[in-house]
Amino acid sequence: HRFDVTCGYVDGGMGRGVLVCFRDVTELRQLDQIRRDFVANVSHELRTPLTAILGFIETIQGPARNDPEAQTRFLATMAGEASRMNRLVGDLLSLSKVEENSRLRPTDQVDIGGLLNSVVRNLTPLAEEAGCRLLLSGPDEAVHIPADADQLTQVFTNLAENAVKYGGQGTDVKVTLTEVHRDSALRGPAVVVSVADNGPGIDPVHIPRLTERFYRIDSHRSREMGGTGLGLAIVKHIVNRHRGRMSITSELGKGSSFQVVLPKK
Ligand code: ADP
Repeated sequence: HRFDVTCGYVDGGMGRGVLVCFRDVTELRQLDQIRRDFVANVSHELRTPLTAILGFIETIQGPARNDPEAQTRFLATMAGEASRMNRLVGDLLSLSKVEENSRLRPTDQVDIGGLLNSVVRNLTPLAEEAGCRLLLSGPDEAVHIPADADQLTQVFTNLAENAVKYGGQGTDVKVTLTEVHRDSALRGPAVVVSVADNGPGIDPVHIPRLTERFYRIDSHRSREMGGTGLGLAIVKHIVNRHRGRMSITSELGKGSSFQVVLPKK
């Protein structure tokens, strides 16, 4: 533990003496360190594509000045780098928005089955392109929960997109909705949404850290897939705002499953 110590001489009604005051600042220091690391990470993540763009501009203005074919190629790469920066800024904005509202629990009644249906429909082209099957199952009747529909759409889009991206060719991604009469931790009725793939799986050592901002198992692969490293951090914050919880189970060579439990009341 770290303490801030202040001392003073007192001479009052209760007599004379020295007053020593200890203040535990461990948590404040830790928060400060987290903030500094975050700023360093963001700067690094933004600088990498920016450096690439500046390099290509120099080449287009210099050695490739009279080479239209090379220019077209470099411009396409620059566009890719610029959209990476755009995605990163979008994710940073989402993260700060959820953090800002973290104390306010959403109250709109949302049909979770309908929401999952549209997430799956929107991701079907991406899944087909990656050679994956995206399957949804759940109860026939509508199930309503108090939620922020945009934010939950982001949660399940991030999870299903990860399953498609990291699952690889031929993966089956199963999105399943079930109702629970009483969840013991939430002390009431809940819904469980599981997003499971039969891809390469995740080494257990990484699992506790996956929801940290910018934590990736393989940075190169994540960047290649268009990842920002913020997807699961956003998921965790949104789920917390909904007073729910997420658990991750995985087995190397067999696949991974991300389970989100959300209260129904
Ligand atoms: P990213 O933008 O890199 O995808 P995320 O926060 O969404 O960031 O995920 C963090 C890391 O967790 C990813 O870089 C990837 O290594 C790993 N990961 C996430 N989902 C899966 C999955 N379904 N299968 C295997 N690895 C995964």
